[in-house]
Amino acid sequence: MMNFYILTLFPEMVMNGLNTSIIGRAVNAGLLSIEAVNIRDYAFNRHQSVDDYPYGGGAGMLMQAEPVYLAHEAVSEKIRVRLSEEAAGAAAKRVRTVYLSPQGRVFDQQMAEELSQEEDLILLCGHYEGIDERVLEEVVTDYVSIGDYVLTGGELPAMVMVDAISRLVPGVLHNDVSAEFESFQDNLLEYPQYSRPEEWHGKKVPPILLSGHHANIEKWRREQSIIRTYKRRPDLLDKSELTEKEKGWLEEWLQTQGEI
Ligand code: SAM
Repeated sequence: MMNFYILTLFPEMVMNGLNTSIIGRAVNAGLLSIEAVNIRDYAFNRHQSVDDYPYGGGAGMLMQAEPVYLAHEAVSEKIRVRLSEEAAGAAAKRVRTVYLSPQGRVFDQQMAEELSQEEDLILLCGHYEGIDERVLEEVVTDYVSIGDYVLTGGELPAMVMVDAISRLVPGVLHNDVSAEFESFQDNLLEYPQYSRPEEWHGKKVPPILLSGHHANIEKWRREQSIIRTYKRRPDLLDKSELTEKEKGWLEEWLQTQGEI
């Protein structure tokens, strides 16, 4: 069971996006829990305001420290209580708190795998021009970006992270095999796949896939993965650990293509 807590000013946006299909089913099956916490509920000032002008001037508004801090405290306390109920005397641990930010480390499959080992994960979504630095210093353990571009808020990035991490939690994909070989494993992209009919628009399914010969099919798929990665993501191929045999095979293939 993995528990996500998303601190946001737009809880309905996050929950509407995550309650369908595979993730929605996993929540209903009790494999995941996803709770969106409205930061505005922790704005205990006269106007329930959560943002203000940045000191020193500049465009836009900034989310204030106190509501973010109180929302984070409330969630942390809830987790602490649950953990101490589950195991009396359990040492209080600091729950990983990710601030979604274009300034963070870029999210990838390896990070998804690492974070899927956590039991609890807090995701903090900024909005407007971001969040007062002081509260980030106090609560954030990881700064994560979903790519080198700027979005209006952290909600879509949080949804991207929940989706990618959840499908690695055991049981979420009914068929655990489907997460077994996928793009980015071994720094290779997945091979091409085909379903019925055997011929479509004059294009035939590669005959080897109809042969029933599993070892040959595996070999063909591995080769296709290598070719595809070479063509589409050569940067990944540089990081992949091909065997000497595979390197030789790739070289031969490149020669047949007149590329070397
Ligand atoms: N002023 C900030 C800066 O220049 O770094 C950008 C703020 S952005 C308009 C508002 C919020 O959207 C951020 O606080 C962050 O939570 C989220 N956000 C925007 N782009 C993102 C990205 N690429 N990855 C993750 N979060 C992002």
